[in-house]
Amino acid sequence: MIPLKVENQFAFSDKDRNIDVYIKREDLIHPFVSGNKFRKLKYNLAEAKKQNFKTLLTFGGAFSNHIAAVAFAGKAEGFKTVGIIRGDELSEKIKDNPTLKFASENGMHFEFVSREMYRNKTDESFLLSMKEKFGDFYLIPEGGTNELAVKGCEEILTEEDKNFNFIACAVGTGGTIAGIIKSSLPNQQVLGFPALKGDFLQNEIRNFAEETNWQLIDGFEFGGYGKVTTELIVFMNDFYAETQILLDPIYTAKMVFGVRSLIEKGFFPDNTKILLIHTGGIQGIDGMNQLLEKKKLPKINRND
Ligand SMILES: *Cc1c(COP(=O)(O)O)cnc(C)c1O
Repeated sequence: MIPLKVENQFAFSDKDRNIDVYIKREDLIHPFVSGNKFRKLKYNLAEAKKQNFKTLLTFGGAFSNHIAAVAFAGKAEGFKTVGIIRGDELSEKIKDNPTLKFASENGMHFEFVSREMYRNKTDESFLLSMKEKFGDFYLIPEGGTNELAVKGCEEILTEEDKNFNFIACAVGTGGTIAGIIKSSLPNQQVLGFPALKGDFLQNEIRNFAEETNWQLIDGFEFGGYGKVTTELIVFMNDFYAETQILLDPIYTAKMVFGVRSLIEKGFFPDNTKILLIHTGGIQGIDGMNQLLEKKKLPKINRND
């Protein structure tokens, strides 16, 4: 399912200071499924198969890259899939929501729950009721992060990336960066740009990775998870015009914006090579553009 090698592409540079920035195009793994979500599912699906499960069950919001990925990968590997979706008002709107529409077309069954119930989604009693409804299932956590997911993300960096001094990636639950940290070299620095505010992330990452050559850079959340500003959209559109590389508004745009700002502030030494990880998330653009249109705000350009 995953190509063995994903290209690194030149993105931009600061010529005066000899800083070169490349981007690993994990987004090209699939037009609708985030690269890192595939990687997180790889060993989980193998384990589910090994344990003879026929059904995968997971959780997510209405724009979730993870929901889209489980639906698609589950179908490709012959599983029935169930998505517990946050927000019971959405059950009427599957056709209007690009993520849910895609997941549904790939055979996912939905269980829409209130925001309140969603908070208790991993309680024993709720999971039991789901077992009664859908039969036994292999449970994949929200966002897909567990030990096997981190193992899959260790395959993002390869031998040819060893000459980069810094590796930057967006952070949601922390599983992706944990895998990257584990496969990075001790002399490389891994920078994580959280897409949401919260102090829990440091510990989440430490649970999976013992290495210490990493740090989280706060301040580029643009209002929090799923939120965007016009400044961010303008940045994305400029970046797209310059490089022909489409970023996603929830994760990768905030990370690339962050790296650009750090370069401007002199964070990086001269003669540095930086590798950005484009984790994907492109499937979320259409849903975000629907919201931006409603609010009469500038939209994300795409002509692919
Ligand atoms: C889910 C996601 C992330 C965050 O990954 P985590 O492992 O949850 O930190 C980053 N980028 C994209 C495009 C994603 O879909």
